[in-house]
Amino acid sequence: MSITLVSGSYIIAGLCFILALAGLSKHETAKRGNLMGMVGMALALIFTVLGTVLGQNAKLETELGVVLVNVVAAADSWAPWAILITMGVGATIGIIMALRVEMTGMPQLIALLHSFVGLAAVLVGWVAYFSPFEGPEGLHRGELFIGIFIGAVTFTGSIIAYLKLAAKMRSKPMMLPNHNLINLSAVIAIIGLTVWFVLNTNPALDIWLLAGMTLISLALGVHLVTSIGGGDMPVVVSMLNSYSGWAAAAAGFTLGNDLLIITGALVGSSGAYLSYIMCKGMNRSFISVIMGGFGTDGQISGEVKDYGDYRETSAGEVADMLRNADQVIITPGYGMAVAQAQSAVADLTSKLRERGVHVRFGIHPVAGRLPGHMNVLLAEAKVPYDIVLEMDEINDDFPKTDVVLVVGANDTVNPAALEDPHSLIAGMPVLHVWESGTVVVMKRSMATGYAGEQNPLFYKENSAMLFGDAKERVEDIIRAL
Ligand code: NDP
Repeated sequence: MSITLVSGSYIIAGLCFILALAGLSKHETAKRGNLMGMVGMALALIFTVLGTVLGQNAKLETELGVVLVNVVAAADSWAPWAILITMGVGATIGIIMALRVEMTGMPQLIALLHSFVGLAAVLVGWVAYFSPFEGPEGLHRGELFIGIFIGAVTFTGSIIAYLKLAAKMRSKPMMLPNHNLINLSAVIAIIGLTVWFVLNTNPALDIWLLAGMTLISLALGVHLVTSIGGGDMPVVVSMLNSYSGWAAAAAGFTLGNDLLIITGALVGSSGAYLSYIMCKGMNRSFISVIMGGFGTDGQISGEVKDYGDYRETSAGEVADMLRNADQVIITPGYGMAVAQAQSAVADLTSKLRERGVHVRFGIHPVAGRLPGHMNVLLAEAKVPYDIVLEMDEINDDFPKTDVVLVVGANDTVNPAALEDPHSLIAGMPVLHVWESGTVVVMKRSMATGYAGEQNPLFYKENSAMLFGDAKERVEDIIRAL
């Protein structure tokens, strides 16, 4: 059996993607993992274009001279030019977006990119319907319909996720009356239309079935994600990541592209597994989240309660507390990313360690706006990996901790998650910071966190608020030390 140029390069690219996933699972190897992913994607792009130019059956042992002759000959036709121009425009837009995006804007950018994958799967499905096809007709029609369905849900769902993450739309869940029934009816309608489409022999009806299913799927994507609250957004982002993978795999089947099937399946399954781990970490039902809040009673808290007075502190006072402390835990959140306070926090950490204070970090799995968001920032600021602990590793240590510094975190340290069953984040495991001697909360105001839930931590007797931008306040503490 002779291996073709395209399939050979696809096998290597597929291996690169598997090594990329393996590398990304650890801090130490994450950069190498990213590099492997980039190499795999570059191979995939180059050989997909070459395959179009030379023909899918060009052999691996094709000599360079022959390749060049074929490329020059193919340059006469419009297809390679159309591909290169489209890639050029896409790459330029991608580079500009990547250069402009702030670290805090990454989740919304990712959601937007997932929407493109969804849209591409819808377009591939529609174009495939109008293109000639040889092979088992029923199977082809089924896979085409499923690809458009997953693509359309991913497309609109990701756009809503983007709008919510970019704060262009309210993050609280929108609960239409009978929202579970709406989801269920949409799914039943789509299954019915799929069976009808596969069995249909009347060509005039085809287009209406296809259009009907596309519209219902687009609406379902909007409804699923608008029904999900702020606290569950990380799971949704990761679910949409998974959907975009399955949408790409479905497009791969339709186009007969093996690498797209492999890559789509890798993204789809790893995204689904990540969502499952996150659901476990947040004590959420996996099915409930993917079904747009299915099974929740629609109870929405977020109401303003009177928890009494809070105590305000100063950077000088916090410096005194830290000077006299033996055990300190820092719990960063989204505010640290907004303030870009990671380097100042790293400086404060090394100053305290030099004085013999035992400093560690407690990282909540959904702190920030992206799984691993805080780990990336702390690694960038060169905080040693061995003092950065996950929530489960550190949660039992708060009672023996003298001072906790909450740097721009809110929902992830909110005791209402455990104490109030009607809270918007009810059941979500949180960092038990209030069990320590003193909790210093650094933020700019008394405003709520991402989920829109008031935080009773701020009013506890052992809590003190240090108001202002996190970076400026941490620098003030360093000066006062
Ligand atoms: P939160 O979003 O709950 O709170 C962040 C706090 O930071 C705010 O209360 C804000 O208060 C404060 N803040 C903002 N800017 C500054 C600044 N410059 N200086 C100091 N403080 C600042 O953060 P958490 O990290 O605790 O929780 C993450 C939330 O995001 C969770 O609800 C999670 O479900 C959700 N989410 C997480 C994702 C993930 O994958 N990690 C993805 C999507 C959503 P103030 O305005 O008063 O300063």
